[in-house]
Amino acid sequence: MAFDFDLFVIGGGSGGVRAARVAAEAGARVALAEEYRMGGTCVIRGCVPKKLFVYASAFADAFEDARGFGWTIEGARFDWERFRAARDAEVARLEAAYRDRLLKAGVTLHDSRAVLVDAHRIRLADGRDVTASHILIATGGRPVLPDVPGAELGITSNEVFELTTQPRSVAIVGGGYIASEFAGILNGLGTRVIQIYRGPQILRGFDDEVRAHVADAMRARGVALELGRDIERIEAAGDEKRVVLTNGESHLVDQVLFATGRAPNTAGLGLEAAGVQLGKKGEVRVGDWSQSSTPSIYAVGDVTDRIALTPVAIREGQAFARTVFAAEATRVDHDLVATAVFTQPEIGTVGLTEAQARERGPVEIARTSFRPMLNVLAHRDERMLMKLVLEAGSQRVLGVHIVGHGAGEMIQLAAVAVGMGATKADFDRTVAVHPTAAEELVTLP
Ligand code: FAD
Ligand code: NDP
Repeated sequence: MAFDFDLFVIGGGSGGVRAARVAAEAGARVALAEEYRMGGTCVIRGCVPKKLFVYASAFADAFEDARGFGWTIEGARFDWERFRAARDAEVARLEAAYRDRLLKAGVTLHDSRAVLVDAHRIRLADGRDVTASHILIATGGRPVLPDVPGAELGITSNEVFELTTQPRSVAIVGGGYIASEFAGILNGLGTRVIQIYRGPQILRGFDDEVRAHVADAMRARGVALELGRDIERIEAAGDEKRVVLTNGESHLVDQVLFATGRAPNTAGLGLEAAGVQLGKKGEVRVGDWSQSSTPSIYAVGDVTDRIALTPVAIREGQAFARTVFAAEATRVDHDLVATAVFTQPEIGTVGLTEAQARERGPVEIARTSFRPMLNVLAHRDERMLMKLVLEAGSQRVLGVHIVGHGAGEMIQLAAVAVGMGATKADFDRTVAVHPTAAEELVTLP
């Protein structure tokens, strides 16, 4: 049978865009459908505008710290609308650049929702059918709201980027990446922030010392962390919202931001009709080569619920395209993926937490906590935390955990060393770069 295309990609986000481009550059006839905006979550309403928010928020620290270095800063004021316009313009520029690169690579673009009819047939929103020998599902994820009365009064990370005025106060529900990052961002910009999390400590899954260190620092910076609390309901209260907790407490705020996790975007996609098996969370189940239970259909990125990070989606998209269209069998190694959480202070981490390592066998810990040079003149008490989790005996580095300014930048390079199997002796042998904070990593006791 002759197909219209060699590859049809559903979803123009991190994974889909990379796969489409690599396949087209390898000579395949490729089409891609995107129902919202090219670039997907990361570019339009995730990593990129979030990081611009983080930068905007961090100026508050800089202005405060500058005083200790002899500066007089008067009249510093944040203009939400002016920042929003600048941020939106940058996002639009990136969106256009993504579109341009795809077109230059020869990809046929459809600004449309696409669903599956069968294992080789896709239906666009206008009813047109397109056929392809291979189909890639790269539809990402969407925010999930808890099932509580009044949840519709809240917003998610999608809408936070659309707010036209800065909330004076916000209740953020959740303890994960998005909740903790936005608690820092909004607090830095001057919004009163209450972060409500059902568990005993935020950032479940991260190293326990890291979690405690960040939570303490967030509190010291003014975030009201309400741990061990669940939402019972949300009520409208004039222009405000009343958040009622299960323990009877309530808070009156301008906005309620739900950051209570994300679910794979598979509903209504026609996957069942095409024989694609889904997992418990609705994710497309795939094997090592990102192939689903239907041989012509592959899936990459958040929709597969492996590791929901942009660089992982990109790797998976690229590996799929190389394997299938460039005859270069490429597998993605999901081990030792470094990650940064852009909380204030920031986290950088790679490898095992202390608790995970202890489950596998005896460990040794090398750690330091210190007040970075900048903070001394700035009269800021916040400390940095650096921790190596080592396999006992060999002292192979199983995990690196950093909290503090530049942690995200540092962990990228530490991940290279950990991936190569470095031991603490390798770190110690490396001569320090002075004066930096990172040098503490190679001078640990
Ligand atoms: P997406 O980027 O979500 O793309 C999927 C695309 O498919 C979307 O554009 C969607 O509109 C489209 N689509 C869905 N269904 C259809 C359909 N039927 N037809 C046509 N199109 C469809 N990761 C990091 O690594 N670092 C960060 O700092 C970071 N920050 C984040 C901050 C926030 C607020 C959020 C929400 C996420 C963040 N992430 C971050 C995660 C990152 O954005 C995702 O892991 C990444 O975007 C996943 O890429 P993807 O290709 O799987 O899906
Ligand atoms: P996370 O999975 O990180 O966190 C979800 C949070 O919501 C958890 O604290 C969870 O609690 C809580 N929660 C879930 N359901 C409920 C409920 N019914 N009631 C109350 N609380 C609830 O998801 P996010 O939405 O924060 O982010 C999604 C993913 O996007 C991240 O996991 C990450 O992979 C990616 N991301 C990456 C970023 C980065 O790289 N810097 C930044 C932002 C997102 P519990 O822990 O108890 O389950």
